[in-house]
Amino acid sequence: SLGDKLQDTIGKLRGKGKVTEQDVDEAMREVKLALLEADVNFKVVKSFVKKVKERSLGSDVMESLTPGQQVIKIVMEELSALMGDNAEKIDFSKNPTVILMTGLQGAGKTTTTAKLARLLKKQNKRPLLVACDVYRPAAIKQLEVLASQVQVPVFAQGTDEDPVAIARRGVEHAKANGNDVVIIDTAGRLHVDEALMDEIKGIKEATAPTEILLVLDAMTGQDAVKVAQAFNDALSITGVVLTKLDGDARGGAALSIRSVTDVPIKFIALGEKLDALEVFHPDRMAKRILGMGDVVGLIEKAEEFVDEKKAKELEEKIRSQTFTFDDFLDQMQQMRNLGPLEDLLGMLPGMNNKAMKNLKIDEKEFARVEAIIQSMTKKERTHPEIIDSSRKKRIAQGSGTDVRQVNGLLKQFKELRKMMKKLGAMNGGKGKRKMKM
Ligand code: GDP
Ligand code: MG
Repeated sequence: SLGDKLQDTIGKLRGKGKVTEQDVDEAMREVKLALLEADVNFKVVKSFVKKVKERSLGSDVMESLTPGQQVIKIVMEELSALMGDNAEKIDFSKNPTVILMTGLQGAGKTTTTAKLARLLKKQNKRPLLVACDVYRPAAIKQLEVLASQVQVPVFAQGTDEDPVAIARRGVEHAKANGNDVVIIDTAGRLHVDEALMDEIKGIKEATAPTEILLVLDAMTGQDAVKVAQAFNDALSITGVVLTKLDGDARGGAALSIRSVTDVPIKFIALGEKLDALEVFHPDRMAKRILGMGDVVGLIEKAEEFVDEKKAKELEEKIRSQTFTFDDFLDQMQQMRNLGPLEDLLGMLPGMNNKAMKNLKIDEKEFARVEAIIQSMTKKERTHPEIIDSSRKKRIAQGSGTDVRQVNGLLKQFKELRKMMKKLGAMNGGKGKRKMKM
């Protein structure tokens, strides 16, 4: 993946006491290839490499004590700059705030509409969804089903009405019912065409949206960039939502879109589940690409569910590496609300698929794990290394399990602690960390 390639190249520079112009040239050649392979726009790559080179060869870098590290920092900063540097927020200055969702068919508009509603609801907004994809009866139903899962109302008028009229009435309905945000789900086409653009333009005119969010499938690589250009030319979009970043998207789209279209990525979607939408942070994405993990993102995700105090405690435990079986149990209980555990673990640095499999916790196993932990003494929970075979036997008996199962859990816990240790070492830690992109 792009991440792996860049990490390899960058890894060579890390810790170099002296960096020559040739080292930088070589590294940049590899970075260039990796970016091109990842489907990053050619012009973007060229100017990126030029900038990094210029900065890297500056005397302040070359004469510093850690030139390798400095070059890495520059690569990270420039990657981040490519994507816009700062997280872009939704503009809520108007009431109701109208958000128009647009994009090609299958990009994830309807799913993202529901995800966004969920996110905004958490910020104490009262969103109304408007069903303007009238070409397939199933589309309205889909929106209604998703909306009911996040407990948000839908304004729909069947498939016989004109989408522009529905959108206009939807906004009126929101005003009359105290909804401060209106999210309009629209129809897409398989490709950009005039009829699609005319319809969206009509909806735009009728509803004066503060945000026009283009939903783009990250898996489509360079095509996504072309689509972004076409939609921006026709509609002046205000932001992009990049979906399906959980798949093996090559990541190039994220790096190209901003610099090619000058439109910020505002959100990224990392899964089909309705909690899989995040505010896009360019610096975190850059770190992620370079394999430094998204610790802040992880902690924020935890905070969304866990109350703030508990999240702080967890953060502290991760940092001080005093994670115990009691915390493990506590986390497991909370993680059940966090969606698939793998999603969460995927955000940790140092995770690869193999480790992920070992850590996979089956919902059904939960009760058993709970029983095992509860059969441990207080001391065993904080110092699991004292659990010898006679203790294992006692724990197995107490929990109605067998020693094999106790061993399994101990192994899982050990893995988790190892990961926590890596996380704790994030601040100032050394060494190469891999991260799935
Ligand atoms: P629309 O045609 O643009 O409205 O697209 P939909 O919202 O119906 O989504 C199309 C398909 O993509 C559905 O199967 C979604 O579950 C799936 N999908 C949407 N977002 C994501 C994502 O972030 N990750 C993954 N893996 N699937 C997604
Ligand atoms: Mg749809």
